[in-house]
Amino acid sequence: MSEEQIQAHFDDFYEDFFTELCKYGEVEEMHVCDNVGDHLIGNVYARFRYEEDAQKAVDNLNQRFYAGRPIYAELSPVTDFREACCRQNENAECTRGGFCNFMHLKEVSRYLKKELFAAQRNFLREQRRVNREKSGEDESHRSRSMSLDRHRDKSRDRSRRSSRRNRRDDLKYAEDIYHGS
Ligand SMILES: [Zn+2]
Repeated sequence: MSEEQIQAHFDDFYEDFFTELCKYGEVEEMHVCDNVGDHLIGNVYARFRYEEDAQKAVDNLNQRFYAGRPIYAELSPVTDFREACCRQNENAECTRGGFCNFMHLKEVSRYLKKELFAAQRNFLREQRRVNREKSGEDESHRSRSMSLDRHRDKSRDRSRRSSRRNRRDDLKYAEDIYHGS
């Protein structure tokens, strides 16, 4: 296989796996080890935004196969990927090569990584919008069933509630930017 074919093959794998992980929750990082030593070969590390989503992924993936082989998943004590990575490898200076005990990451094509994370962000934004609309409907149902003599209080209530909701949107948006890239 040529270098390009190897990269294309790897990109396909990355996309496949990322798409699978996104089903369980928001994925903030996903890395694939290029090491060949026993304890790192074939390892994929993913950081979910919420721990319960990581647990969900572990539980489900342990019942799955990939390319005909069972997946073995567990929660990882690694919280900082940069610390776990081989500094020398990043500078192309590691003499231990694939047998290094620190993580050597296989880089996915930059454009694909950008595309995948952007797609996830858009999906989550859309999901939040739909949820918000749904909860908005619930609120109007509830207020309609309230007694009419409290009408004035209710409208004041509602405007207060909606301004609070807008502020929360700003916050979420700020988070999106922070978590983007
Ligand atoms: Zn190394």
